[in-house]
Amino acid sequence: MVVHSDVVCPFCGCLCDDLEVTVEGDEIVGVKNACAISRSKFMNHGENRLQEPAIDGKKASLEKAIEEAAGILADAKRPLVYGLSSTDCGAIGRAVELAEVLGGVVDNTSSVCHGPTILALQQVGESKTTLGEVKNRADLVVFWGSNPTESHLRHLIRYSAMPKGMYVPEGRKGRYIVAVDVRTTRMERVADEFVKVDQGGDFELLLVLRAAVRGVKIKAESVSGVPRETIMELVRRMKGAKMGIIFFGLGLTQSDGRHMNIDAAVGLVTELNHHTKFLLTPMRGHYNVAGANSVTTWQTGYPYAVDFARGYPRYNPGEYTSVDLLAKEEADAAIVIASDPAATFPAEAVRHLAKIPVVTLDQKVTPTTMLSRVAIPVATAGVEAEGTAYRMDGVALRLSKVVEPEDGLLSDEAVLEAIIERVRALKGEVG
Ligand code: SF4
Repeated sequence: MVVHSDVVCPFCGCLCDDLEVTVEGDEIVGVKNACAISRSKFMNHGENRLQEPAIDGKKASLEKAIEEAAGILADAKRPLVYGLSSTDCGAIGRAVELAEVLGGVVDNTSSVCHGPTILALQQVGESKTTLGEVKNRADLVVFWGSNPTESHLRHLIRYSAMPKGMYVPEGRKGRYIVAVDVRTTRMERVADEFVKVDQGGDFELLLVLRAAVRGVKIKAESVSGVPRETIMELVRRMKGAKMGIIFFGLGLTQSDGRHMNIDAAVGLVTELNHHTKFLLTPMRGHYNVAGANSVTTWQTGYPYAVDFARGYPRYNPGEYTSVDLLAKEEADAAIVIASDPAATFPAEAVRHLAKIPVVTLDQKVTPTTMLSRVAIPVATAGVEAEGTAYRMDGVALRLSKVVEPEDGLLSDEAVLEAIIERVRALKGEVG
């Protein structure tokens, strides 16, 4: 029996790095410190596996599957490389390389989650911090459009609400927790204050909060359904905090206003920094979506929606984003890595995905593997393969390999390397 300690959880953007995984032979028999989702990922990592490489649903050798995948991608005029937020940084780097070799588009799942956050932060900058600083210093924590009790189960316990920090020795009692959302969630029971805002009213409320922080008198009885007294009390608390932080989720990035909501949140935080220390951090969902943005930026200068059709990287969300490329029926082939767009994209994008040849690298059977021309099973990063991932705050952590993968299973990175080599050969390039 082997006990692996300080294992990083490869599920959500918290990347909890204190797991203890017990392995007997090649089987995981116990996981400590994990939340229910994480425990399930480790304990059931062998279930619903993609059993073997397949071409048109028929079993094929790995070599044949790679050859077929390379042929599909090399023949395509507008290939799309998509996914990448649930794999390690090495694979993401290879995926960007593949897009460049193909003259295709590389995009990651942030185009359908925190893409608006990135657009806003590129315009107005950000005032960011690490989760360690939050744990040690934050005495006012605001969750806006985010419900960690369902999405990031240990966030409150490990980083933001419960833990005792160096300058917050009382733990939960030393922090004031506010949740802002359009509907009541479980955060109502966890937070000290739950502020219910009208659907589509976030932008207006953020602007009014900023104005109030600046000293502007609010004449309206309520703004976006929030009474003036509640707004003024929140402003008092924000200005009086030793260190405050806003964690925001898809409730802010994917509602009316989108990137303008984040722009307004940054404006509020900027204003608050005239009075105290205030920061904001996006609640990144998939465990390495922050890594997908970082690696794509190192290699191309841009975080997602990058087109290599002209031989150099161009960036244009709304044009080179996957949903747009598919819905406009531009992409004529796709390779999907560690993602399931067939289950998550809008219907018109999925309809086109089902019409074009798709290559998928995944560990599990998914709707996307089921519609794929070529499906290649891979080792699970963070369980069966090592790698690096970026936490929601941009801190890089090392993923562990706690069990050996099944015979013949390669990592995403190794399969992508093999595909790149074959694509280069088919295009007459030297690798
Ligand atoms: S909160 Fe997220 S990273 Fe932490 S153990 Fe749960 S799923 Fe894993």
